[in-house]
Amino acid sequence: MRAVSLHRDVILVTSALLQVNCTIVRGPGGDEEPAVGGEAASTAAQAATERLAAETFVIDSPVLPEELELLPSLIQQAGFAPASGLLATHADWDHLLARMAFADVALGCAESSADRLDAEPGVAQRELRRFDEELYIKRGRPLALGSLQALPVPGRCEIGEAELELHVADGHTTDGMAIWIPWARVLVAGDYLSTVEIPTLSEGGRRDAYLATLERLRPLAAAAEHVVPGHGPVTDGARALGVLEEDIAYLRALGERGAAAELPPGRRSREQRRLHARNVAAL
Ligand SMILES: [Zn+2]
Repeated sequence: MRAVSLHRDVILVTSALLQVNCTIVRGPGGDEEPAVGGEAASTAAQAATERLAAETFVIDSPVLPEELELLPSLIQQAGFAPASGLLATHADWDHLLARMAFADVALGCAESSADRLDAEPGVAQRELRRFDEELYIKRGRPLALGSLQALPVPGRCEIGEAELELHVADGHTTDGMAIWIPWARVLVAGDYLSTVEIPTLSEGGRRDAYLATLERLRPLAAAAEHVVPGHGPVTDGARALGVLEEDIAYLRALGERGAAAELPPGRRSREQRRLHARNVAAL
């Protein structure tokens, strides 16, 4: 697992498996000491400041049990407040594991993801189990998602004295959201804008919805300092816009030429060709 700081309030954790990215974000001003104003200082104001500072969210999750176990101490060592919220960009199992590290913290997701999880109970758990069995991974306990907080998307989500922006991001799957962290100019894209993976249409994924999501992400990527894809390296906004154009070209070609569509440059490995064949089958 790799952890790097993208901004004073944003830490990126990348799993050794699947290069899944987990973004840890705290509300701005999280490390400022509450103001002590002598006799005039009001305890209520101090308490309010502490409460505002004490907001740390974990978006998506690493995959390995030991990586998940390290998250709470990593947050503490960074000087962030303990995690008070978990968010998942979409309901694929590899983005849902944060509750294994924070069993007492509620998981929030887009309403579309909550609907999907309701409609397919046990699927994420089953896929996680299959993955673990294949790689001989042992976990102490099964994945319990708890009661989900379904968030309206598009919308906003308060964190300390600031807000995260939630943007619709479907097409890869039927559900999902991208998260814009305005003060850090970080875009957490979900399974879009990856330099290592071609656009994939999973079950329920749709080419036209995917293209619409890319158009929605365009202005955010243009304004971003960092773009965090679901899998693979973080890019700057310019590189993300390059990937966005490549992905649009690929998806258009997929619609017009099917199997004969050319894959994006740098994403033509055997595994990417396998994903391409799956896309063709999904059309
Ligand atoms: Zn994923």
